[in-house]
Amino acid sequence: MSIAVIGRGLWGAAAARHLAMAGQDVTLIGPTEPADKRSHTGVFGSHYDEGRITRKNALDPYWVGVSTAAIDRYAEIERQSGIRFYTETGAVMAGGKDFMARVDVGRLTHNVPCDALDHAGLAERFAFFRFPDHFTGYYEATRAGHISPRNMVAAQAKAAGLLGAVLLEETVTGVEERVDHVEVTTNQGHHRFEHVLVAAGYNTDTVLARAPQMDVYARTVAFFEVSEAEAARLKTMPTLVYDAPEDPYLLPPIRYLDGKLYIKLGGDPEDVPLTNAGDICDWFRAGGNPQVRDHLDAMLRALMPDLDVVSLSMAACVTSWTKDRLPEIARLSDRLVVCTGGNGAGAKCSDEIGRLGAGLILNQIGVDE
Ligand SMILES: Cc1cc2nc3c(=O)[nH]c(=O)nc-3n(C[C@H](O)[C@H](O)[C@H](O)COP(=O)(O)OP(=O)(O)OC[C@H]3O[C@@H](n4cnc5c(N)ncnc54)[C@H](O)[C@@H]3O)c2cc1C
Repeated sequence: MSIAVIGRGLWGAAAARHLAMAGQDVTLIGPTEPADKRSHTGVFGSHYDEGRITRKNALDPYWVGVSTAAIDRYAEIERQSGIRFYTETGAVMAGGKDFMARVDVGRLTHNVPCDALDHAGLAERFAFFRFPDHFTGYYEATRAGHISPRNMVAAQAKAAGLLGAVLLEETVTGVEERVDHVEVTTNQGHHRFEHVLVAAGYNTDTVLARAPQMDVYARTVAFFEVSEAEAARLKTMPTLVYDAPEDPYLLPPIRYLDGKLYIKLGGDPEDVPLTNAGDICDWFRAGGNPQVRDHLDAMLRALMPDLDVVSLSMAACVTSWTKDRLPEIARLSDRLVVCTGGNGAGAKCSDEIGRLGAGLILNQIGVDE
């Protein structure tokens, strides 16, 4: 059976590896990251970065389950591909009573190993953070930290390729289901497949030519460059998600492609919807919102008042939200499967989401997983 996976992002590349591991004839279709985002006129992805938080705890138990399954396979993917993407720094979730009660639901359901810290415990363990007095936290010391989403996509795609998958660096412009196959048109030609899995991130509705199912929101992240000495001072800094209206998330110093070290903070004060492909591309090209960057700057100064910052910069990204805030992993017909809706949380668990999508295709063709 010939199977195409459309979208060489975190979910598509994961699905391709699982299909290749199941011995299927799989083609992974999608462009590489644009070299110059400011002038790029094609599609974008939400993984063009060096840092995504990975941990098991979450505000919804669904994400705890899929993240736990995915994290358990990081070593396998790194081994198969020879590409490292995971750094174990530990991860903290901290907040007030209601926030921590939400974390408790998934933590208890999935028995997540972590240390419970009261306010004094948080202050003692992580002296570089200043939390409000009513905060407590959970610290996952192991199997938590951050992944390089770029390297993870590269690792999944390489592992899939080593297992026989074909890679097409093309952009899909049409998907049409015929009686005995699916016709996939790209910017370079026409291809026929018996089954197709669409995992094109924010662009999935467009690829499927269906009415919009997801809300796409503009996201700005702020990058705080730090010196080697400052990064050494912060060598025990975990990733952090904390209780605030912006849903902030913070990553410790990570070395980026320019050789410099950056702390990253995200968390937009408002959800700005992007309603069509043109606006989404314009947003990526714009590179972020300076007012959000400055808001994030003020938030980080309050959280880490002793931080010595060399420079401040920003980047643009988008998150895709389903109505029920859970991924859409579904069979659309006998030949088509969709796998989309990261809901701002789809990097850490991507290998499990890809496996679930691949499972629907295998089920269509009557192969046991
Ligand atoms: C700023 C930011 C911070 C985040 N932080 C975290 C975090 O800390 N932890 C976490 O777990 N998650 C995080 N996320 C969410 C996570 O990055 C996404 O959920 C994840 O990238 C979703 O994977 P995906 O494969 O669905 O989409 P993507 O990774 O965006 O991949 C989609 C792919 O589809 C391709 N594509 C699109 N259109 C076409 C087409 N027509 N033809 C062919 N290919 C096409 C694109 O090129 C892209 O490669 C964050 C997201 C953002 C924006």
